[in-house]
Amino acid sequence: MLVHEQLGIYQARHPLPFKLNHVNCYAVKGQDGWYLVDSGLSNEAGRGSWQKFFAEHSIQSQDIRGIYLTHFHPDHYGASGWLQEQSGAPVYIGGIDAERVERYWKHGDWILQAMQEMFTANGMPLEVTLPVIEAMSRLLPFTRPHSEVQTLQPGDSVRLGDYSYKVILTPGHTDGHICYYNEEFQVLLSGDHLLPGISSNISLWPDPGADRNPLDNFLTALRSIEGLPCELVLPAHGRPFTTMAERIGQLLEHHRERLALVKESTGQGATAYQVCLQIFPQELSMHELRFAMAETLAHLMYLVYRGEMKLSQSGGVDMYSLV
Ligand SMILES: [Zn+2]
Repeated sequence: MLVHEQLGIYQARHPLPFKLNHVNCYAVKGQDGWYLVDSGLSNEAGRGSWQKFFAEHSIQSQDIRGIYLTHFHPDHYGASGWLQEQSGAPVYIGGIDAERVERYWKHGDWILQAMQEMFTANGMPLEVTLPVIEAMSRLLPFTRPHSEVQTLQPGDSVRLGDYSYKVILTPGHTDGHICYYNEEFQVLLSGDHLLPGISSNISLWPDPGADRNPLDNFLTALRSIEGLPCELVLPAHGRPFTTMAERIGQLLEHHRERLALVKESTGQGATAYQVCLQIFPQELSMHELRFAMAETLAHLMYLVYRGEMKLSQSGGVDMYSLV
């Protein structure tokens, strides 16, 4: 589907085997070939969906000039190696997330162990943790074959099709998440930083190299682009939208409310798992439960950094309480 005529941007929507059942990648047509933004999962359905898109637009593998990723998550990085194998095109990602690709996907199993330890230390019972980690382990094959990535830095200019785009660092959803912004037509390829309808997952990662306060990064990154002139946002999930500033306002408000709820649920002492069950009372899949738990931890850590909450240990379990 053509989503921006002058810039030559097409949306390539691929299926995902989750409740969030699709990811939007974008393909930008230029005089010298095609430029892809994000790659979807490397599973049969994801690869098949690209093949269908290429056939519909008469794209040969050698027409692909470059693959630009917004962040390291499997539904964005996943099929980049498969696309690279066929086309020989360079794959680009922000510098911080390039390092995550290396450590999480290429030398992967330690992150599963670390996630299990973090959840256990935060009160999640083992009979819940094990299937959550098992569900996460099933994602690793969706990143193979691994692409070799080149890195982008904030402020870099890249050419997608016939126009240039600025690389904007928007950490939070991942530490190194980037958006691509075309100034001429005021179009933002927002990845998972700005989504309509749902709020981006903000997760604490059990990684000594990861930022300990991702929610603060996210809120700061939202505010940093609030004044950006923007006619159209092209998100990685959901439909394109034109109301960027309004959406940022809604997301800031959502997190203000969520933080108040986390404080209320924590009270004089609770584990992150207890808080998680209160703020996400609905039935969750194992995949969603990992997001919910890591997001609860991100909110708790934000409050700890603000001095509104304190963290202590009791019997080997982390307890949070209001200051
Ligand atoms: Zn993501």
